[in-house]
Amino acid sequence: MIIQFENEINEVQKEAILNRIKGLKYKPTEVKTQKGNYLIGIGKKDFDIRSIGAMPGIKDIHIVSDDYKLVSRKWKVNPTTIDLGNGVMIEEGGFQVMAGPCSIEGEDQIRKTIAHLKEQGVSIMRGGVYKPRSSPYSFRGMGNEGLKLWYELAQEAGIKIITEVMQVSQIQEMDPYVDIYQVGARNTQNFNLLDELGKNTDKPVMIKRGISGTIDELLYSAEYVFSAGNERLLLCERGIRTYENATRNTMDLNAIAVLKEKTHLPVIADPSHGIGIRHHVAPIALASIMAGADGVIFEIHEKPEEAFSDGQQTLNFAESARLINQLNQTFALRKSFNQA
Ligand code: PEP
Ligand code: MN
Repeated sequence: MIIQFENEINEVQKEAILNRIKGLKYKPTEVKTQKGNYLIGIGKKDFDIRSIGAMPGIKDIHIVSDDYKLVSRKWKVNPTTIDLGNGVMIEEGGFQVMAGPCSIEGEDQIRKTIAHLKEQGVSIMRGGVYKPRSSPYSFRGMGNEGLKLWYELAQEAGIKIITEVMQVSQIQEMDPYVDIYQVGARNTQNFNLLDELGKNTDKPVMIKRGISGTIDELLYSAEYVFSAGNERLLLCERGIRTYENATRNTMDLNAIAVLKEKTHLPVIADPSHGIGIRHHVAPIALASIMAGADGVIFEIHEKPEEAFSDGQQTLNFAESARLINQLNQTFALRKSFNQA
């Protein structure tokens, strides 16, 4: 069960509610986020929801049959909107493009990418300054100095940034320079990191699906961050590892449709890592929109063949411009289907 407390609830009312929950042998967990005050009750016994719902201090009560609670659509029917400020919103019924290099490489690259995004009307730039690389000898990112430089240039241009945080100790130093944190596929089940992103920042967090993670596991990961205090969350399908080795990963378009049904959180598609082959990125991006994605994130570089990482799946600026145009057209088509 999820109880949403009234903002003005007092300690006596809260105590009475907690005692009632414990009396039902439900295990209560209090959750306080930037948006609300909740009590999660975990238990099995049937009870009359009205008898609790009428208690003073309760705004709303819901029975949620899913094992994850706060991220479930069964509780919150209205989709979550992520407001990044300056009119940049990620929301159902809208569509956001996030594009940029796999790795931030230097000032010239940042400037050129920002100029391209501005030209294309894109408001969110992606890029990694801490890179999880399979080999320790590969480029591992410019770190926080790179992030500061990037953030300054992006701010000047009115561009928001999304970047990966790899460990708990990075949160504090990164926080002033991040618009959206990305939790990478290798960290989806780093529960310490998820907890800390719940407790120690109000910035939105986009959680990528684990390389071998199920849809439910992704939802549980989001539940960690929400229940630790941060409900500004996005989910990202980025392909999973299967027996298929013709592509880097297997982009699971099913997951997009299923996630849109199971959760109120925005769902973003990453076709670059999803298929891992440059000339297949665009069709998979378009297909993701038709599957219901609220946004697409993809990798671009002025000269993909010279990119420090993931060049094989990176679009050049001309390819990116073509894709953005097609994405807008495809989104309009989806909207017309939904209205029909
Ligand atoms: C990335 O976005 O560059 C990245 C490393 O993604 P993932 O965690 O999905 O592999
Ligand atoms: Mn990459």
